[in-house]
Amino acid sequence: MGDFNLTVILDAIRRSEAGLSRVELAQLVGLSPQTISNISRRLLDQKLIVEAGKEGTGPGKPRTILRLNPKGMYAMGVHLDPALITVVLLDLVGSVVEKNTFVTPQSHDPQEIVDAIAECVEKLLAHSGVDRSLVAGLGVAAPGPIDLERGAVVGPPLLHGWVDVPLQDMVHRATGLPTTVDKDVTGAAVAEIWAGGPGGSGSFIFFYLGTGLGCGLVLNGEVYRGASGNAGEIGHIIVDPDGPVCSDGCGMRGTIGTVLEPQVIVSQAVVAGILPVLPDNPTARDFQGAFARLSELAGEGDETAISIMRGAARSLAWGVSVVGNLVDVDRMVFGGPFWHPVAGFVLDVLPDLVNARLATQGIHRVRLDGTRLGEDVGAVGAACLVLERALAPRAERLLLEG
Ligand SMILES: [Zn+2]
Repeated sequence: MGDFNLTVILDAIRRSEAGLSRVELAQLVGLSPQTISNISRRLLDQKLIVEAGKEGTGPGKPRTILRLNPKGMYAMGVHLDPALITVVLLDLVGSVVEKNTFVTPQSHDPQEIVDAIAECVEKLLAHSGVDRSLVAGLGVAAPGPIDLERGAVVGPPLLHGWVDVPLQDMVHRATGLPTTVDKDVTGAAVAEIWAGGPGGSGSFIFFYLGTGLGCGLVLNGEVYRGASGNAGEIGHIIVDPDGPVCSDGCGMRGTIGTVLEPQVIVSQAVVAGILPVLPDNPTARDFQGAFARLSELAGEGDETAISIMRGAARSLAWGVSVVGNLVDVDRMVFGGPFWHPVAGFVLDVLPDLVNARLATQGIHRVRLDGTRLGEDVGAVGAACLVLERALAPRAERLLLEG
Protein backbone atom coordinates (compact mmCIF):
# COMPACT_ATOMS: atom_id res chain seq x y z
CA MET A 1 0.00 0.00 0.00
CA GLY A 2 1.15 3.58 0.27
CA ASP A 3 0.44 4.68 -3.28
CA PHE A 4 -1.80 7.72 -3.07
CA ASN A 5 -3.58 7.18 -6.40
CA LEU A 6 -4.22 3.58 -5.49
CA THR A 7 -5.92 4.59 -2.25
CA VAL A 8 -7.94 7.25 -4.09
CA ILE A 9 -9.27 4.63 -6.50
CA LEU A 10 -9.95 2.11 -3.75
CA ASP A 11 -11.77 4.81 -1.81
CA ALA A 12 -13.99 5.69 -4.77
CA ILE A 13 -14.89 2.01 -5.26
CA ARG A 14 -15.56 1.64 -1.53
CA ARG A 15 -17.90 4.62 -1.44
CA SER A 16 -20.01 3.53 -4.39
CA GLU A 17 -22.93 1.33 -3.41
CA ALA A 18 -23.06 -0.70 -6.62
CA GLY A 19 -19.43 -0.69 -7.69
CA LEU A 20 -17.86 1.30 -10.52
CA SER A 21 -16.62 0.63 -14.03
CA ARG A 22 -13.14 1.75 -15.09
CA VAL A 23 -14.71 4.50 -17.23
CA GLU A 24 -16.76 5.81 -14.32
CA LEU A 25 -13.67 5.67 -12.09
CA ALA A 26 -11.64 7.74 -14.55
CA GLN A 27 -14.34 10.41 -14.64
CA LEU A 28 -14.83 10.39 -10.90
CA VAL A 29 -11.22 10.67 -9.72
CA GLY A 30 -9.79 12.52 -12.72
CA LEU A 31 -6.99 10.07 -13.56
CA SER A 32 -6.14 8.85 -17.05
CA PRO A 33 -7.75 5.62 -18.31
CA GLN A 34 -4.24 4.09 -18.50
CA THR A 35 -3.55 4.85 -14.82
CA ILE A 36 -6.97 3.49 -13.83
CA SER A 37 -6.30 0.34 -15.81
CA ASN A 38 -2.84 -0.20 -14.24
CA ILE A 39 -3.99 0.43 -10.71
CA SER A 40 -7.12 -1.70 -10.96
CA ARG A 41 -4.89 -4.52 -12.24
CA ARG A 42 -2.74 -4.15 -9.11
CA LEU A 43 -5.81 -4.08 -6.85
CA LEU A 44 -7.15 -7.21 -8.56
CA ASP A 45 -3.77 -8.94 -8.08
CA GLN A 46 -3.79 -8.00 -4.39
CA LYS A 47 -7.35 -9.39 -4.23
CA LEU A 48 -8.62 -6.14 -2.68
CA ILE A 49 -11.20 -5.77 -5.47
CA VAL A 50 -13.07 -8.17 -7.71
CA GLU A 51 -14.65 -7.91 -11.12
CA ALA A 52 -18.34 -8.23 -10.40
CA GLY A 53 -20.14 -8.88 -13.66
CA LYS A 54 -20.73 -6.71 -16.67
CA GLU A 55 -23.22 -3.95 -17.13
CA GLY A 56 -24.65 -2.01 -20.01
CA THR A 57 -26.74 -2.69 -23.10
CA GLY A 58 -26.76 -1.14 -26.50
CA PRO A 59 -23.76 -0.46 -28.69
CA GLY A 60 -20.20 -0.76 -27.42
CA LYS A 61 -18.54 -3.12 -25.01
CA PRO A 62 -20.41 -3.83 -21.74
CA ARG A 63 -18.55 -2.32 -18.78
CA THR A 64 -17.00 -4.51 -16.12
CA ILE A 65 -17.97 -3.43 -12.61
CA LEU A 66 -15.27 -3.28 -9.92
CA ARG A 67 -16.21 -3.88 -6.30
CA LEU A 68 -14.36 -4.35 -3.04
CA ASN A 69 -13.52 -7.94 -2.20
CA PRO A 70 -14.84 -8.40 1.36
CA LYS A 71 -12.41 -11.30 1.91
CA GLY A 72 -9.39 -9.41 0.57
CA MET A 73 -8.36 -7.96 3.92
CA TYR A 74 -9.50 -8.13 7.52
CA ALA A 75 -9.02 -6.00 10.63
CA MET A 76 -9.55 -6.69 14.29
CA GLY A 77 -10.96 -4.20 16.76
CA VAL A 78 -11.07 -4.07 20.53
CA HIS A 79 -13.27 -1.69 22.44
CA LEU A 80 -11.86 -1.19 25.91
CA ASP A 81 -14.80 -0.03 27.99
CA PRO A 82 -14.70 0.02 31.79
CA ALA A 83 -17.77 -2.25 31.87
CA LEU A 84 -17.43 -4.54 28.87
CA ILE A 85 -14.70 -5.45 26.41
CA THR A 86 -15.84 -6.17 22.85
CA VAL A 87 -13.64 -7.79 20.21
CA VAL A 88 -14.61 -7.96 16.54
CA LEU A 89 -13.17 -9.24 13.28
CA LEU A 90 -14.16 -7.00 10.38
CA ASP A 91 -13.90 -7.73 6.67
CA LEU A 92 -12.85 -5.19 4.06
CA VAL A 93 -16.38 -3.83 3.53
CA GLY A 94 -16.77 -3.23 7.25
CA SER A 95 -19.04 -6.16 8.09
CA VAL A 96 -18.58 -7.93 11.42
CA VAL A 97 -17.40 -11.49 10.69
CA GLU A 98 -16.91 -12.58 14.30
CA LYS A 99 -17.60 -10.94 17.62
CA ASN A 100 -17.03 -11.70 21.27
CA THR A 101 -17.56 -9.79 24.50
CA PHE A 102 -16.45 -10.27 28.08
CA VAL A 103 -16.88 -8.37 31.32
CA THR A 104 -13.88 -6.11 31.93
CA PRO A 105 -11.76 -7.70 34.68
CA GLN A 106 -12.03 -5.43 37.72
CA SER A 107 -8.27 -5.39 38.13
CA HIS A 108 -5.89 -2.58 38.93
CA ASP A 109 -3.24 -4.29 36.82
CA PRO A 110 -3.53 -3.30 33.14
CA GLN A 111 -1.45 -6.34 32.12
CA GLU A 112 -4.23 -8.62 33.36
CA ILE A 113 -6.72 -6.90 31.05
CA VAL A 114 -4.27 -6.96 28.14
CA ASP A 115 -3.77 -10.73 28.64
CA ALA A 116 -7.53 -11.27 28.64
CA ILE A 117 -7.82 -9.26 25.41
CA ALA A 118 -5.03 -11.28 23.75
CA GLU A 119 -6.69 -14.56 24.71
CA CYS A 120 -10.02 -13.38 23.28
CA VAL A 121 -8.33 -12.19 20.06
CA GLU A 122 -6.64 -15.58 19.53
CA LYS A 123 -9.84 -17.55 20.14
CA LEU A 124 -11.88 -15.36 17.86
CA LEU A 125 -9.33 -15.53 15.06
CA ALA A 126 -9.06 -19.32 15.33
CA HIS A 127 -12.85 -19.70 15.33
CA SER A 128 -13.25 -17.49 12.25
CA GLY A 129 -10.91 -19.60 10.13
CA VAL A 130 -9.51 -16.40 8.60
CA ASP A 131 -5.85 -16.60 7.61
CA ARG A 132 -3.79 -14.51 10.02
CA SER A 133 -1.77 -13.09 7.13
CA LEU A 134 -4.92 -11.37 5.83
CA VAL A 135 -5.41 -9.47 9.09
CA ALA A 136 -4.01 -5.98 8.54
CA GLY A 137 -3.81 -5.24 12.24
CA LEU A 138 -5.55 -4.70 15.51
CA GLY A 139 -7.13 -1.42 16.59
CA VAL A 140 -7.88 -0.56 20.20
CA ALA A 141 -10.45 2.09 21.06
CA ALA A 142 -9.88 3.40 24.57
CA PRO A 143 -11.42 6.14 26.70
CA GLY A 144 -9.49 9.42 26.45
CA PRO A 145 -7.39 11.28 27.01
CA ILE A 146 -4.69 9.38 25.17
CA ASP A 147 -1.13 9.98 24.06
CA LEU A 148 -1.61 9.24 20.37
CA GLU A 149 2.08 9.20 19.50
CA ARG A 150 2.93 6.51 22.07
CA GLY A 151 -0.46 4.80 21.96
CA ALA A 152 -0.74 5.30 25.70
CA VAL A 153 -3.83 5.68 27.83
CA VAL A 154 -3.43 8.54 30.29
CA GLY A 155 -5.74 7.98 33.24
CA PRO A 156 -9.28 7.43 31.88
CA PRO A 157 -12.17 7.79 34.32
CA LEU A 158 -13.45 4.50 35.77
CA LEU A 159 -10.36 2.48 34.84
CA HIS A 160 -8.70 2.56 38.24
CA GLY A 161 -4.96 2.21 38.31
CA TRP A 162 -4.58 3.17 34.65
CA VAL A 163 -2.02 5.95 34.85
CA ASP A 164 -0.05 6.39 31.61
CA VAL A 165 -0.36 2.81 30.34
CA PRO A 166 1.57 2.08 27.08
CA LEU A 167 -1.38 0.11 25.72
CA GLN A 168 -0.20 -0.05 22.09
CA ASP A 169 3.10 -1.75 22.97
CA MET A 170 1.48 -4.05 25.53
CA VAL A 171 -1.26 -5.27 23.15
CA HIS A 172 1.23 -5.64 20.29
CA ARG A 173 3.51 -7.77 22.47
CA ALA A 174 0.61 -9.89 23.69
CA THR A 175 -1.00 -10.51 20.27
CA GLY A 176 1.85 -10.17 17.77
CA LEU A 177 -0.45 -8.09 15.56
CA PRO A 178 0.42 -4.56 14.38
CA THR A 179 -1.53 -2.47 16.88
CA THR A 180 -2.94 1.02 16.82
CA VAL A 181 -4.60 2.81 19.74
CA ASP A 182 -6.99 5.73 19.44
CA LYS A 183 -9.74 7.40 21.44
CA ASP A 184 -13.10 5.65 21.44
CA VAL A 185 -14.85 8.75 20.06
CA THR A 186 -12.37 8.96 17.18
CA GLY A 187 -12.89 5.26 16.48
CA ALA A 188 -16.65 5.74 16.44
CA ALA A 189 -16.33 8.58 13.92
CA VAL A 190 -14.03 6.49 11.72
CA ALA A 191 -16.52 3.60 11.96
CA GLU A 192 -19.25 5.87 10.67
CA ILE A 193 -17.05 6.84 7.70
CA TRP A 194 -16.07 3.26 6.85
CA ALA A 195 -19.05 1.16 7.80
CA GLY A 196 -21.95 3.50 8.53
CA GLY A 197 -23.44 3.51 5.05
CA PRO A 198 -23.84 6.28 2.50
CA GLY A 199 -24.07 9.04 5.16
CA GLY A 200 -20.45 8.48 6.13
CA SER A 201 -18.99 11.19 3.95
CA GLY A 202 -19.08 14.97 4.12
CA SER A 203 -18.89 16.65 7.51
CA PHE A 204 -20.55 15.34 10.62
CA ILE A 205 -20.13 15.07 14.39
CA PHE A 206 -20.31 11.77 16.23
CA PHE A 207 -21.50 12.27 19.81
CA TYR A 208 -20.37 9.40 21.94
CA LEU A 209 -22.26 8.64 25.15
CA GLY A 210 -19.90 6.50 27.16
CA THR A 211 -18.44 6.82 30.63
CA GLY A 212 -18.09 10.48 29.67
CA LEU A 213 -19.43 12.52 26.78
CA GLY A 214 -17.08 13.06 23.88
CA CYS A 215 -17.34 13.71 20.19
CA GLY A 216 -15.55 12.71 17.03
CA LEU A 217 -15.29 15.31 14.29
CA VAL A 218 -15.37 14.40 10.61
CA LEU A 219 -14.62 17.33 8.35
CA ASN A 220 -14.89 16.87 4.59
CA GLY A 221 -14.73 13.10 4.87
CA GLU A 222 -11.67 12.92 7.13
CA VAL A 223 -11.62 12.49 10.88
CA TYR A 224 -10.09 15.46 12.69
CA ARG A 225 -7.84 14.36 15.56
CA GLY A 226 -6.31 17.63 16.71
CA ALA A 227 -2.66 18.31 17.59
CA SER A 228 -2.31 15.48 20.12
CA GLY A 229 -5.18 13.20 19.12
CA ASN A 230 -7.54 14.53 21.75
CA ALA A 231 -9.96 16.73 19.77
CA GLY A 232 -13.56 16.42 20.86
CA GLU A 233 -13.12 16.57 24.64
CA ILE A 234 -16.35 18.49 25.15
CA GLY A 235 -17.08 17.35 28.69
CA HIS A 236 -16.36 20.80 30.17
CA ILE A 237 -19.01 22.75 28.25
CA ILE A 238 -21.17 24.30 30.98
CA VAL A 239 -24.87 23.58 30.51
CA ASP A 240 -26.12 24.41 34.03
CA PRO A 241 -24.19 27.05 36.02
CA ASP A 242 -26.04 25.99 39.21
CA GLY A 243 -25.61 22.28 38.51
CA PRO A 244 -23.60 19.66 40.39
CA VAL A 245 -19.86 20.22 41.00
CA CYS A 246 -17.74 18.62 38.25
CA SER A 247 -16.67 15.11 39.18
CA ASP A 248 -13.00 15.57 38.27
CA GLY A 249 -12.36 18.16 40.95
CA CYS A 250 -11.81 21.13 38.60
CA GLY A 251 -14.28 23.17 40.65
CA MET A 252 -16.67 24.04 37.82
CA ARG A 253 -20.39 23.45 38.10
CA GLY A 254 -22.83 21.92 35.68
CA THR A 255 -20.35 20.73 33.05
CA ILE A 256 -22.11 18.59 30.48
CA GLY A 257 -19.87 15.63 31.29
CA THR A 258 -21.02 15.71 34.90
CA VAL A 259 -24.68 16.58 34.30
CA LEU A 260 -25.01 13.68 31.87
CA GLU A 261 -22.90 11.21 33.83
CA PRO A 262 -25.00 8.07 34.13
CA GLN A 263 -24.38 7.96 37.89
CA VAL A 264 -25.64 11.55 38.29
CA ILE A 265 -28.82 10.85 36.31
CA VAL A 266 -29.33 7.52 38.07
CA SER A 267 -28.93 9.09 41.52
CA GLN A 268 -31.63 11.66 40.66
CA ALA A 269 -33.94 8.73 40.01
CA VAL A 270 -32.86 7.01 43.25
CA VAL A 271 -33.51 10.19 45.26
CA ALA A 272 -36.91 10.55 43.55
CA GLY A 273 -37.70 7.02 44.68
CA ILE A 274 -38.24 5.43 41.28
CA LEU A 275 -35.05 3.34 41.26
CA PRO A 276 -33.68 1.13 44.08
CA VAL A 277 -30.53 2.27 45.89
CA LEU A 278 -27.39 1.02 44.11
CA PRO A 279 -25.04 -1.46 45.82
CA ASP A 280 -21.96 -0.12 47.65
CA ASN A 281 -19.07 0.60 45.27
CA PRO A 282 -21.22 0.30 42.16
CA THR A 283 -19.46 -0.76 38.97
CA ALA A 284 -19.92 0.73 35.50
CA ARG A 285 -22.19 -2.24 34.76
CA ASP A 286 -24.44 -1.41 37.74
CA PHE A 287 -24.87 2.10 36.37
CA GLN A 288 -25.55 0.79 32.87
CA GLY A 289 -28.28 -1.49 34.26
CA ALA A 290 -29.87 1.25 36.36
CA PHE A 291 -29.71 3.66 33.44
CA ALA A 292 -31.45 1.16 31.16
CA ARG A 293 -34.17 0.66 33.78
CA LEU A 294 -34.73 4.43 34.03
CA SER A 295 -35.17 4.66 30.24
CA GLU A 296 -37.63 1.77 30.44
CA LEU A 297 -39.65 3.62 33.09
CA ALA A 298 -39.73 6.72 30.90
CA GLY A 299 -40.90 4.55 28.01
CA GLU A 300 -43.69 3.15 30.21
CA GLY A 301 -44.90 6.69 30.89
CA ASP A 302 -43.54 7.23 34.43
CA GLU A 303 -43.81 11.03 34.88
CA THR A 304 -40.79 11.32 37.19
CA ALA A 305 -38.61 9.28 34.86
CA ILE A 306 -39.78 11.33 31.88
CA SER A 307 -38.98 14.60 33.63
CA ILE A 308 -35.47 13.40 34.57
CA MET A 309 -34.84 12.21 31.01
CA ARG A 310 -36.22 15.45 29.52
CA GLY A 311 -33.87 17.45 31.74
CA ALA A 312 -30.94 15.34 30.51
CA ALA A 313 -32.04 15.76 26.88
CA ARG A 314 -32.18 19.57 27.34
CA SER A 315 -28.64 19.58 28.76
CA LEU A 316 -27.47 17.40 25.90
CA ALA A 317 -29.10 19.78 23.40
CA TRP A 318 -27.20 22.76 24.88
CA GLY A 319 -23.86 21.03 24.60
CA VAL A 320 -24.55 19.57 21.19
CA SER A 321 -25.61 22.93 19.77
CA VAL A 322 -22.40 24.61 21.02
CA VAL A 323 -20.35 22.09 19.05
CA GLY A 324 -22.76 22.32 16.11
CA ASN A 325 -22.40 26.09 15.97
CA LEU A 326 -18.62 25.77 16.05
CA VAL A 327 -18.25 23.46 13.05
CA ASP A 328 -21.55 23.77 11.09
CA VAL A 329 -22.34 20.26 9.86
CA ASP A 330 -25.26 18.68 8.01
CA ARG A 331 -25.52 15.73 10.28
CA MET A 332 -24.98 14.60 13.86
CA VAL A 333 -24.70 10.93 14.78
CA PHE A 334 -25.18 9.48 18.26
CA GLY A 335 -23.90 6.25 19.73
CA GLY A 336 -21.87 4.63 22.48
CA PRO A 337 -22.60 2.25 25.36
CA PHE A 338 -25.14 4.56 27.03
CA TRP A 339 -26.87 5.60 23.82
CA HIS A 340 -28.80 2.47 22.99
CA PRO A 341 -31.24 2.48 25.96
CA VAL A 342 -32.16 6.16 25.48
CA ALA A 343 -32.10 6.32 21.68
CA GLY A 344 -35.87 6.29 21.11
CA PHE A 345 -36.62 8.84 23.78
CA VAL A 346 -33.82 11.23 22.86
CA LEU A 347 -34.39 11.14 19.09
CA ASP A 348 -38.01 12.16 19.73
CA VAL A 349 -37.08 15.40 21.46
CA LEU A 350 -33.48 16.25 20.58
CA PRO A 351 -33.69 17.26 16.88
CA ASP A 352 -36.05 20.18 17.59
CA LEU A 353 -34.18 21.22 20.75
CA VAL A 354 -30.85 21.27 18.92
CA ASN A 355 -32.05 22.94 15.72
CA ALA A 356 -33.72 25.72 17.73
CA ARG A 357 -30.31 26.56 19.22
CA LEU A 358 -28.26 26.53 16.02
CA ALA A 359 -27.24 29.81 14.39
CA THR A 360 -27.96 28.22 11.01
CA GLN A 361 -31.59 27.35 11.81
CA GLY A 362 -32.97 29.62 9.08
CA ILE A 363 -30.53 28.21 6.53
CA HIS A 364 -30.48 24.43 6.88
CA ARG A 365 -31.86 21.86 9.26
CA VAL A 366 -29.30 19.52 10.81
CA ARG A 367 -30.18 15.83 10.78
CA LEU A 368 -29.76 13.82 13.97
CA ASP A 369 -29.45 10.02 13.74
CA GLY A 370 -28.51 7.10 15.92
CA THR A 371 -25.55 5.16 14.51
CA ARG A 372 -26.54 2.22 12.33
CA LEU A 373 -23.64 0.30 13.83
CA GLY A 374 -25.44 -0.31 17.10
CA GLU A 375 -23.80 -1.06 20.40
CA ASP A 376 -20.64 -2.40 18.77
CA VAL A 377 -19.69 0.93 17.25
CA GLY A 378 -16.67 1.22 19.57
CA ALA A 379 -15.20 -2.13 18.54
CA VAL A 380 -16.13 -1.72 14.87
CA GLY A 381 -14.50 1.72 15.04
CA ALA A 382 -11.35 0.22 16.52
CA ALA A 383 -11.09 -2.18 13.57
CA CYS A 384 -11.89 0.63 11.12
CA LEU A 385 -8.87 2.54 12.49
CA VAL A 386 -6.75 -0.23 10.98
CA LEU A 387 -8.54 -0.04 7.61
CA GLU A 388 -8.26 3.73 7.66
CA ARG A 389 -4.54 3.57 8.34
CA ALA A 390 -3.97 1.00 5.60
CA LEU A 391 -6.29 2.28 2.91
CA ALA A 392 -7.54 5.85 3.32
CA PRO A 393 -6.27 8.42 0.81
CA ARG A 394 -4.88 10.81 3.37
CA ALA A 395 -3.15 14.08 2.68
CA GLU A 396 -0.06 12.91 4.60
CA ARG A 397 0.28 9.97 2.20
CA LEU A 398 0.43 12.40 -0.70
CA LEU A 399 3.05 14.52 1.10
CA LEU A 400 5.20 11.44 1.76
CA GLU A 401 5.20 10.59 -1.92
CA GLY A 402 5.63 14.14 -3.12
ZN1 LIG B 1 -14.12 19.30 35.63
